[in-house]
Amino acid sequence: YAAKQTGEPFRRWSLALDERTSQYAELGAQMRAGLDSGQFRVVYQPIVAVPDLRVVAVEALVRWEHPERGPISPVEFIPVAEQNGLIFELGEWILATACRQLAEWRTELGAPAPDRMSVNASARQLARPGFAKTVARTLAAAKLPADCLTIEMTETAVFQGGQAITTLHELRALGVLIALDDFGTGHSSLGLLQTVPVDILKVDKSFVDNITETGRHTVIARSLIQISEGLGLTAVAEGVETAEQAEALQQLGYRFLQGYYFGKPSTHPDFTLALDWAS
Ligand code: C2E
Ligand code: MG
Ligand code: MG
Ligand code: MG
Repeated sequence: YAAKQTGEPFRRWSLALDERTSQYAELGAQMRAGLDSGQFRVVYQPIVAVPDLRVVAVEALVRWEHPERGPISPVEFIPVAEQNGLIFELGEWILATACRQLAEWRTELGAPAPDRMSVNASARQLARPGFAKTVARTLAAAKLPADCLTIEMTETAVFQGGQAITTLHELRALGVLIALDDFGTGHSSLGLLQTVPVDILKVDKSFVDNITETGRHTVIARSLIQISEGLGLTAVAEGVETAEQAEALQQLGYRFLQGYYFGKPSTHPDFTLALDWAS
C-alpha cells in the first residue's frame, strides 16, 4: 500500500492537495490585510412579514471585495477564516457593524426601521467560551436591547453539543433570539429540536425552490411549518425568488419570507416595500 502511494494518481492528488492548502494559506494571509485595509463590508437583506410586507428584520451578510480577485463569496472565505482563526476578529467586526447599523436606523428612521438584526455565527465562534459576553458587550456599546438581535447558526455548528449549546443558553438568557439556519439540510434537523434551544427555523431554499409544483416539496414545506407551529417556533422561508413562491408559502401558513423577490442583500435595503406594493 505504501508503495502504491508513490504512483502517479497519488502524486497528482497530493499536488492538488498542496495547491489547495497553499491557496487557503494565501487567502488567509490576504484576509488579514483585507481586514486591516477595509476590504470587508456588511450588506443587509430584508425579512418580510406577509401579507403586509413589513420589513421585520434584516440579515447581515458579509462581503469581501478582494483588490485583485474582485468579490469573493463568504461560502469560500468563511471556512478559511474558521480554519486560520480570523473568524473571531471578523465575526466580532461583523456583529459590531451590524448592531451599530441597526441602532443608526432606529435613530434615523424611527418606526420604519426593522425590529431586529440577524447575524450569522460560525461553529468556532459558538464553541468558544465568552461568545455570549462579547455579544452582550457589543449590544451595550451600540445601546441596543438584546431582543433586537438574532444569532443564526447552522445545524452542524451545534450538533456536537458541548460549549456551543452552553453558548446558546447564555445568549437566550441575555434575551437574544436563536435561529437555526438552512433548516432541513443537515443530518439531524428534527433531533436537534429536542435538545437545542431555538426560537426561529429558517427553512432552507431547497424546500422553497419547487414549491409551486405540487408534490414532495410542498408536503415537506407544509410539514415544516406545522412542526414549527407545534413547537411554538417562528418559521422563516429562505430564498423566495418569485411571486408564485411567496403566494404558495403564504397559503401554507408561512408568515415570514426572505429572498431576492423581496430584496437582494444591500448596504441600503428598502424598508418601504409595503408602500411600493400598495402603489
Ligand atoms: P445563509 O446564512 O443561509 O444566507 C443566505 C444566503 O442566501 C446569502 O448568500 C444570500 O445572499 C442568499 N440568498 C438570499 N435570498 C436568495 C434568493 O432568493 N436566491 C438565491 N439564489 N440566494 C439567496 P451569501 O451572502 O452568499 O452567504 C452565503 C452563506 O455564507 C450564508 O448562508 C452563511 O452561511 C455564510 N455567511 C454569510 N455572511 C456571514 C457572516 O457574516 N458570518 C458567517 N459566519 N457566515 C456568513
Ligand atoms: Mg443565515
Ligand atoms: Mg440561511
Ligand atoms: Mg441557506
